[in-house]
Amino acid sequence: MFKTFRPGGIHPSENKLTAGSKIRGLPIPGQVSIPMNQHIGASPKILVEKGDMVKVGQLIAQEEGFISANIHSSVSGKVLKVDAVVDMSGYKRKAITIKVEGDEWLEEIDTSTELVKEISLERHEIVRKINESGIVGMGGATFPSHVKLMLPRGKKAEYLIVNGAECEPYITCDHRLMLEDPESIIEGIKVVMKALGVKKTIIGIEDNKPDAIKILKKLLSKQKKISVGTLKSKYPQGAEKQLIYALTSRVVPSGGLPMDIGVVVLNVGTISSIANIFKTGLPVTERIVTVTGNGVNNPNNLLVRLGTSFEDCVNACDGLKDNVEKIISGGPMMGVAQSNLQATINEGTTAILVLDKKEAKVVHPENCIRCGSCIYACPIGLMPLSIAATADKGDFDLAEKLGAKDCIECGICTYICPSRRSLVQSIRLAKSILNKRRI
Ligand code: SF4
Ligand code: SF4
Repeated sequence: MFKTFRPGGIHPSENKLTAGSKIRGLPIPGQVSIPMNQHIGASPKILVEKGDMVKVGQLIAQEEGFISANIHSSVSGKVLKVDAVVDMSGYKRKAITIKVEGDEWLEEIDTSTELVKEISLERHEIVRKINESGIVGMGGATFPSHVKLMLPRGKKAEYLIVNGAECEPYITCDHRLMLEDPESIIEGIKVVMKALGVKKTIIGIEDNKPDAIKILKKLLSKQKKISVGTLKSKYPQGAEKQLIYALTSRVVPSGGLPMDIGVVVLNVGTISSIANIFKTGLPVTERIVTVTGNGVNNPNNLLVRLGTSFEDCVNACDGLKDNVEKIISGGPMMGVAQSNLQATINEGTTAILVLDKKEAKVVHPENCIRCGSCIYACPIGLMPLSIAATADKGDFDLAEKLGAKDCIECGICTYICPSRRSLVQSIRLAKSILNKRRI
């Protein structure tokens, strides 16, 4: 029997339209706009100004504070402006816009290098190199990876869990990575295992990706410390707490972190990028993005330089159809709706999803009929209807008592509600107000 979590969960239609589409390199665009808020935590300090010339891999913004991340240029060319632009969150935020000229790389980057077989660096040196590279969670969470690898005094990691679940409908960037470059995932795992000093790694993959499971199992057949855990296809199987429970039977306490129970979780894309850092010295300058949905003419998986506009990505997939209803950054369950295609790709952009009128019907909420479906399906065991109702009334203290902060914003309650109530939206509002109060 395949591993999974409890309670709750659903299995929405998978719609993995691009599962068979090989990753295609997108030509370098004429201009990129690299967002400075592409990670959780403090904004980095901007190191360039209008008129500066930059190369691929050059540090253009330096981390500030413990939870922050460096940002490097993804292209070579001239800085056109350092300005506030509307990003994928819908807010105006700082970005560095660069007009591309050629494709000149920093001299110390060597992309011809073979994958590293043996890392001679000490643990702290590995973490420092990952820190310098500015890599953040590429599954969408965008938490700085080096922070996860800095074990607090007295804590010991026992498991590294590698997240290849990709449970959101439509998205296939991790699936294609596992099929097309599985060696980089294994090499990245070896680097991180050394950094953490862990003896066991499990790569969690849902059973709807049997080809990826087969290929990784074959490559790992002689490895005792790294294994593949086959997961039942169930949403949100890729959420950190749900993944940990499915693969180790350990429970992350409310308000706690995976590290509290000896586990570190990294996404397959993050792990693969870590291997590239140690192979070539190249920090994160590109990522795989799934451009999909029935509103796109030719859905595809693209390898894209960071800062490329959504519009350039969609145009590379033969543009939009006439029947577009909704554009989303990310998947349909947790993604963020876009008002246009001007936002740009950051390290956490897994997908650009364009839904047609059939896929994204406009719905009008009705009264709650007390059916209990949202409670039954919530993977955290919360009462979404009660939290949302208290949030709607402005009683955020009661929302907190009911567990609003534990909500992982998976969107199941909204998805499943027969009255089409915007439950997760109300809970998200309560969470953001409660978080602001804490600052
Ligand atoms: S969004 Fe929050 S409350 Fe709703 S099902 Fe997910 S975890 Fe539960
Ligand atoms: S699923 Fe919707 S209708 Fe059913 S109890 Fe929850 S909020 Fe009410």
